[in-house]
Amino acid sequence: MATINDNYLKLKAGYLFPEIARRVNAFAEANPDAKIIRLGIGDVTEPLPEACRTAMIKAVEEMGDRNTFKGYGPEQGYAWLREKIAANDFQARGCEVDASEIFISDGSKCDTGNILDIFGDNNIIAVTDPVYPVYVDTNVMAGHTGDASEKGEFAGLIYLPITAENNFTASLPTEKVDLIYLCFPNNPTGAVATKEHLKAWVDYAKANNAIIFYDAAYEAFITEENIPHSIYEIEGARDCAIEFRSFSKTAGFTGTRCAFTVVPKTLTAKAADGSDVELWKLWNRRQSTKFNGVSYIVQKGAEAVYSEAGKAQVKALVSFYLENARIIREQLTSAGIAVYGGVNAPYVWVKTPNNLSSWDFFDKLLQNCNVVGTPGSGFGAAGEGYFRISAFNSRENVEEAMKRITEKFKV
Ligand code: PLP
Repeated sequence: MATINDNYLKLKAGYLFPEIARRVNAFAEANPDAKIIRLGIGDVTEPLPEACRTAMIKAVEEMGDRNTFKGYGPEQGYAWLREKIAANDFQARGCEVDASEIFISDGSKCDTGNILDIFGDNNIIAVTDPVYPVYVDTNVMAGHTGDASEKGEFAGLIYLPITAENNFTASLPTEKVDLIYLCFPNNPTGAVATKEHLKAWVDYAKANNAIIFYDAAYEAFITEENIPHSIYEIEGARDCAIEFRSFSKTAGFTGTRCAFTVVPKTLTAKAADGSDVELWKLWNRRQSTKFNGVSYIVQKGAEAVYSEAGKAQVKALVSFYLENARIIREQLTSAGIAVYGGVNAPYVWVKTPNNLSSWDFFDKLLQNCNVVGTPGSGFGAAGEGYFRISAFNSRENVEEAMKRITEKFKV
């Protein structure tokens, strides 16, 4: 008889976004005239940069000519894209990352989940709380946890709270952990890490033979000086960190799909016999076996991000969302609501007013303002009392949503 992976049964039934959709749909049905503005899910709204579109159209034409047609590409991605990434995103910032250490993929969501394929099942794993839910759920699926508690915390995971009290940067674990997920700029809090903070993590990882999974999907939103864009800006990170990047939020590729993961060749972890094994070799093997590369057309679109026109268009796109974030921050502050993030990230992390629970604030915003956000508690127990508002929307919608909120909550 066929059996299932029972670990899937441990996953929480009411996943955050379906529950939001359920409440919004019920409200919309009961109030068909309400003009609902969705500032919940972190999907981009603005079209692809022209440089990317032009490159992709040209690539489609190439695919239509037998002389330039492309079949399977390299599983790791085309060298011309890997080289541009290495030069622009890393070497230009003084990071020692070689093109051969970059693996092109169809998303950071899959990469942050798939990376577990090359690690053992007995690692002690630390995540921040709140956290991007994919890190937790993929570990549950892989059987790395026990069941969820009432609070929604899975047995076996180490949760590191990030709240206003610690400036949304987790303290180092007091116990020894083997794998650590860090995300900066952070989803959901919008926080960034200083060089000193990242150095403390790198030093911890090196001292404990741990590996850091560094998710920099929102790197392009960093505006402040002296904030590291890559973990490889920290000395020693090549010996303890894997970095995930994505074109999704940078260049509007959420529907186009292109991302990449950096696995330095200097990075090792222990085999059962105690020997050190290069993680690059394992990831290369994993990708070559289970993945057949990102489409040529999409990689051409991603390559255009690094052209002069592409760079300018991406900058304009990111600035547009950051201006939305600024409006959200300013308007909510004027309504007497405490806000965090939104300066180096497209997310504004709101302290719910009047000590409302995250879901109570969600319901209030939906009912009184017809605005949808994301309850902080959905990202982890320490997110209770917070609320995420996304800057991914049209200016018109952001301004209208803020007008409604400030009218209702004005102090
Ligand atoms: N990492 C973080 C922190 C995210 O918030 C998201 C998407 O929301 C992703 C990764 C997924 O990126 P991709 O579209 O490349 O799969």
